[in-house]
Amino acid sequence: MTTYAFAPAPVVSVPVLGRPERFPVHRIYCVGRNYEDHAKEMGFTGREPPFFFLKPADAIVVAEAGQTATIPYPSLTSNLHHEIELVVAIGTGGRDIRAADAARHIYGYAVGLDMTRRDLQTDMKKQGRPWCIGKAYDKSAPIGPITLAAQAGDIHNAPIWLQVNGSDRQRSNVAKLIWNVAETIEHLSHAWELQPGDLIYTGTPEGVGAVVRGDTLNGGVEGLTPITVKVA
Ligand code: MN
Repeated sequence: MTTYAFAPAPVVSVPVLGRPERFPVHRIYCVGRNYEDHAKEMGFTGREPPFFFLKPADAIVVAEAGQTATIPYPSLTSNLHHEIELVVAIGTGGRDIRAADAARHIYGYAVGLDMTRRDLQTDMKKQGRPWCIGKAYDKSAPIGPITLAAQAGDIHNAPIWLQVNGSDRQRSNVAKLIWNVAETIEHLSHAWELQPGDLIYTGTPEGVGAVVRGDTLNGGVEGLTPITVKVA
């Protein structure tokens, strides 16, 4: 029997709507600048090949249906940004997956927030250094319950939105993704072998901005369970 020097970290998991079993998280992949108007607001134009960064699995904060999850205002930043995103949950792994075959690898979808220490990310970008400190910090990946793919409706033409304290901040449509879900899976699976349990944060539309302590974020993608997160 294997023994460990200390108790291994618990499996990070996300609830699945209407199912007793939870979705165990393997990795969190994120797509950068995947809506044109967000690319523009970040100072970029045009369709560039998709690019990816990762967050650690234990950056997940589950926002249960109908409840308010809490995230602490993180250290080192004075410019914490919200990015509302459609999240794809991978149920069947693979490498070199063709876009035409991507659907059968998808377990379900959820609403997620790619919380970002924007000042640190911007500083790292300027210096040509990795974004980790801006993107992959503790509790940087709130997520709602996963809806099974078959029950998610027309997710590829779904409105996506985020409100802060009841006011609109982000409002767009998943149809405006530069690289759609299938194309993203194709590109990602050339770079890494996808595994069951992988989550893909597919990118955020325009309207990103700062939140402060005490703010309540409410976001959704039509057809999925919305999430509510308070910054403490
Ligand atoms: Mn993002």
